[in-house]
Amino acid sequence: MLADRRTVFIETYGCQMNVSDSELMLGTLAAVGYEAVDSPDGADVILVNTCAIRENAEQRVIGRVGELKRSMKPGSIVGITGCMAQRLGPRILDQARHVSLVIGPDGYRALPELIARAQRGQRVTATDFDLEEHYEDFQPRRFDKVKAWIPVQRGCDYKCTYCIVPYTRGPERSRQLDDVVREARGIVEAGMTEVVLLGQTVNSYTDGTHDFADLLRALGRVDGLRRIRFTSPHPNDFTDRVIAAMAETPTVCEHVHLPMQSGSSATLKRMLRRYSREAYLAVVNRLRAAMPGLGLTTDIIVGFPGETDADFEETLSACRAVGFDDAFTFQFSMREGTPATRLPPELAVPADVVQDRYDRLVATIRGMARAKNLSLLGQRRELLIEKVARDGELLQGRSRDFKTVLVAADAAAVGGYLDVELTGTTGSTFTGTPVAPARPERQPLPLAG
Ligand code: SF4
Repeated sequence: MLADRRTVFIETYGCQMNVSDSELMLGTLAAVGYEAVDSPDGADVILVNTCAIRENAEQRVIGRVGELKRSMKPGSIVGITGCMAQRLGPRILDQARHVSLVIGPDGYRALPELIARAQRGQRVTATDFDLEEHYEDFQPRRFDKVKAWIPVQRGCDYKCTYCIVPYTRGPERSRQLDDVVREARGIVEAGMTEVVLLGQTVNSYTDGTHDFADLLRALGRVDGLRRIRFTSPHPNDFTDRVIAAMAETPTVCEHVHLPMQSGSSATLKRMLRRYSREAYLAVVNRLRAAMPGLGLTTDIIVGFPGETDADFEETLSACRAVGFDDAFTFQFSMREGTPATRLPPELAVPADVVQDRYDRLVATIRGMARAKNLSLLGQRRELLIEKVARDGELLQGRSRDFKTVLVAADAAAVGGYLDVELTGTTGSTFTGTPVAPARPERQPLPLAG
């Protein structure tokens, strides 16, 4: 009945893990009768799923939460979920009187009950960690109809000094391999052929019996699954077993997003990344030897406390040595509650120096990506067509090595595969022309050593 219609709107900030958590929340609320809506205006429940990784992400959320007051009707409730909820806890309730729910990433199982309490007028905080929580039995309501994200691991044990994640998502824990495989089979039955495995350090996955290599091989045996990706790995967790499993599982795509953060061993030490410049470059070499044609992207932070000009030059030279296909670049942002706050204040890098280094890094990455992409013109790629491009005419697809390619084809091709020749590039994205399929399946490659 119309009078019983209950609606929920979720706005998501931050990383893909948060998008996946929003899918879990929508799934669990759908199971108790909530309908997802595309606008906060007049929704019964408005949830903002937040990110705490950078100061400006939190500022944006605070501004947005204030605006959402205007969307509320009598009886609406507004809740803050995710990493910022975990970090600030009840402080959010003090700052925003119209917010009645604050729920951390391990609290979503109780979401319907917590919402019911808020609807009875209570103001509720749920930010305890639950090391057993994997949301195993949840049925996510997926936003994407072409590829599916599967969280296989939650939390992080690394504690890099700049990072708030270990304090907002708690210690690392992994799902059981059989459950992940079952979810992948369900995804294929629902018509999707690509999965992206998610974890804070996804390749350190272990369910107590199986490691990440076992997981990749098990998913490689799922009938109908054509592509497996994962994000984000930690360089230290690329064991020989994992690299062999990647190379010998034809459905594992030839792309790795390998966060480097800095090319200076001294800076990496202060970041507590637990690898040196040389060790990072050695991982790159091992991956490339096992998977020729591998696309490599990365994350880099400039201006970490104590970073000297010489350290920054080492970052630039490491970028050139690797020849990244692309990079997410960040200016260091100090987060309250992270170990970096205890570094001596005199190590802070002046803002104008950080900006200058950032500009030089971006120019270096762009130049490198452009040169690499120009060198690929004339080559063929198999695309998974993901959507209609922004111009409304071309379709946008993704190659196995993670290149974005625009191609003229019928919209009915979305969700399917198309072989193309790369005919043009803007420097970052490509245009392609459909060609007859001539793609042999990737054969298992022998591994050195
Ligand atoms: S590995 Fe480091 S950067 Fe990544 S989530 Fe863990 S602590 Fe943060």
